[in-house]
Amino acid sequence: MNILVLNCGSSSVKYQLINEDTKLALARGSVERVGTSGAILTNVRSDGDEIKVTGDILEHTTAIEYILAVLLSKNHGVITNKNEIHAVGHRVVHGGETFTGSVLITDEVIKGIRDNFDIAPLHNPHNLRGIHACQTHLTNIPQVAVFDTAFHHEIPPHAYLYGIPYSLYSQYKIRRYGFHGTSHEYVAHRAAELLRKDIKKLKLITAHLGNGCSITAIDKGISVDTSMGFTPLEGLLMGTRSGDMDPSVILYVMSKEGLNYAEANTLLNKHSGLQGISGVSNDMREVIAEMNDGNKRAKLAFDVFCYRIKKYIGSYAAAMGGVDAVIFTGGIGENSPDVRKGVIDNLQFLGMEIDKTVNANKDKEKAIHTNKSEVSIFVIPTNEELMIALQTKEVVKSIKKK
Ligand code: AMP
Repeated sequence: MNILVLNCGSSSVKYQLINEDTKLALARGSVERVGTSGAILTNVRSDGDEIKVTGDILEHTTAIEYILAVLLSKNHGVITNKNEIHAVGHRVVHGGETFTGSVLITDEVIKGIRDNFDIAPLHNPHNLRGIHACQTHLTNIPQVAVFDTAFHHEIPPHAYLYGIPYSLYSQYKIRRYGFHGTSHEYVAHRAAELLRKDIKKLKLITAHLGNGCSITAIDKGISVDTSMGFTPLEGLLMGTRSGDMDPSVILYVMSKEGLNYAEANTLLNKHSGLQGISGVSNDMREVIAEMNDGNKRAKLAFDVFCYRIKKYIGSYAAAMGGVDAVIFTGGIGENSPDVRKGVIDNLQFLGMEIDKTVNANKDKEKAIHTNKSEVSIFVIPTNEELMIALQTKEVVKSIKKK
């Protein structure tokens, strides 16, 4: 079964055509700068063939047209007929309290995604555009929505409620939802495989450290707490997002600097985090390079980043009454030995110790703990697209059985 996995953002569409039997991508790519006449599609085939196409791609529907054209093209394509795409799996960021798992897209599901526009204005509208585009170009092919929030739907009320009037939860559904669910779920299951243990017998802490960062406590395979909250702004320090802070800070800054809602939102989401503290970059590679050149603010940003992850590891170990393994994933988690070392340093009292040599080697997937470490520590490359493809397959199989 070939599954087209789509991740539609405001100005980009990322995709992979995954063969679910081999679990490999036949082709992967992206359309960047959607909404402009200088949009660029990049398609990379599994044999390494790469093509770039530029064009007037003013809407997501046109982006899907371009993607299908390249997948079907004689010289650079991987299929000869649209029917060789057997299902489409859409990443949908916010499922709210409505969606606790992946679902076949129907009119009712579309209404549910739309109902969550209010709490995910930056994501859900674009995700829905991708769905409508596929309904236009891939008629009669089942489409499935896979939600970033779904894996976290079993977080208990004591972990998801905020300390504000309960009526705000009842009326507006203000609570912790959590994000990056497919990534946390994928690496947790992979860690259980590596440990050769049933995930139902494990306490895991998964740290997804990319442009966005979140960390999750997974007890017996269930997400019981996670650092992102009502929106993907809460928790760890990120590339440009602040993560945790006293909510009064923003009220104070708004009054001092005369910021309106949109400006305050931009400050917290686009000008904070690594970028805001270092003044150098939102990219951890550049922050580390500057830090190594003696830039003090870059070092400060690095230290805040690692310290906050360390603090969450301690609190999640306490929340679960122990921890069997910590897993690093995402662009930073997978590629930065410095960050992993900065996080795990001095956690021997929790039974965690990193092997410096293995930590620094270039292996993609690896156990980086020493023989003495009571807690396993893994680096596991995430594969959200594969997870979306597998969940899409499950939904399609279940409807075929009915
Ligand atoms: P992601 O959102 O998972 O694609 O992660 C992207 C981020 O990973 C980039 O912004 C970089 O900060 C980070 N990254 C990628 N490679 C490295 C590396 N070798 N060292 C440190 N950070 C890296």
